[in-house]
Amino acid sequence: MTQITFLGSCREIGRAGFLMEEIDESLLVDYGAKLTEPPKFPDTVPLENLQGVALTHAHLDHSGGIPLILSKTEASLFCTPATRDLSLLLLRDMYNVTKGRLPFTRNDIPLVRRQCQATAYEETLPLGHHFEMTLFNAGHIPGSAMVSIRVDGTRVLFTGDFNAIESQLNLGARKNLPKHDVVVTESTYARRSNPDRAEIEEALIDSVIETLERGGTVLIPAFAVGRSQEIMCILERHDIPQKYPIYVDGMARKVNEILVRHPEYLQNPQAFSRAVSRSRTIQDSRDRKRAAENGGIIVSPAGMLKGGASHLYFKMLHDDPRNTIIMVSFQIPGTPGAELLATNKVKVGGRTYEVDADVRMHHLSSHSDAKGMLNLLQRIPGDPEFYVVHGESESCDKLEETLQKKGRKAHVPEVNETVEI
Ligand SMILES: [Zn+2]
Repeated sequence: MTQITFLGSCREIGRAGFLMEEIDESLLVDYGAKLTEPPKFPDTVPLENLQGVALTHAHLDHSGGIPLILSKTEASLFCTPATRDLSLLLLRDMYNVTKGRLPFTRNDIPLVRRQCQATAYEETLPLGHHFEMTLFNAGHIPGSAMVSIRVDGTRVLFTGDFNAIESQLNLGARKNLPKHDVVVTESTYARRSNPDRAEIEEALIDSVIETLERGGTVLIPAFAVGRSQEIMCILERHDIPQKYPIYVDGMARKVNEILVRHPEYLQNPQAFSRAVSRSRTIQDSRDRKRAAENGGIIVSPAGMLKGGASHLYFKMLHDDPRNTIIMVSFQIPGTPGAELLATNKVKVGGRTYEVDADVRMHHLSSHSDAKGMLNLLQRIPGDPEFYVVHGESESCDKLEETLQKKGRKAHVPEVNETVEI
């Protein structure tokens, strides 16, 4: 009998991890961190019979603990080449940010490259005697995958994070997934509905042009992986006049370099290359000051004004009403970004800033909303049984309830719960 143990991301977002066991063999899908201070990880699992580790995508809530696993096993890591390279970058950054307060060492991080068997979408690989693995495009960030495991005739799909809608950066998740018997699905936005993508892009461009024409500077705090590149592609597509410089700061630049090497994961590689050549890079604090004074568009991590260079720009730009700060992702309550949207004041580095700059929100989601999620899940053939993870507790319950109302079998597993399939 095959078993799945839910090691994490149960009624929460963070530390994803799933262990599959069949007779004398096992397989791990994701092993991520919960980004608290210090980060938390799923409980350790026996690794003697591990046949491989499959990784859905590079975000640390899925990849953050992979070096810990690889330091204890010879088993291979299976993911797309883009996921491998982006994970290495994010893991090194996590190591620096946490000052090494992690259950693995800096020397364990390169194991992600050394033990990786780079895997293409749609390629099927046997793992041990009992498992067979295929990756499908998940449309969430470049290189992101759904992991499909066949174990003695039963097919299990781990969706990871997914977005069924195409964006200027990503191709959408694979349409028409094959038959599955069990689906372990994310539920991040199970209680939300995203406005039409094209309308958000138009509104974003309007905000940008309006600001530039009145002589202001636009600051777009954005995640380094995915969102920053999405913004660059949107700006490229809408032909922002050349007289307005576009600056890209921080880790987003390194992500650009990685994605230029992996064009197969991009919606439009030529447009992305044009966007990268158009953008000016920032090296130091002198460049930052110049960029803030010159008028133009600054794309910089972190997406919620917490860490990264975006808070440095914020300090330089907040007091001029000609400037605009555009938030492009959901702002977690308690972050400076959420405070800014709610009160127009924000505490950064121990000081409270009253904000005179214009503040806007144009949310470019990289997850499907409730409708998109249900649509994709319902179209998976084989009447699969659903296990709902990776969402706030209420979101997990909501998706479970919605699926049950449609006559589907659905459950919300608790952490470390084991089910037989
Ligand atoms: Zn993600």
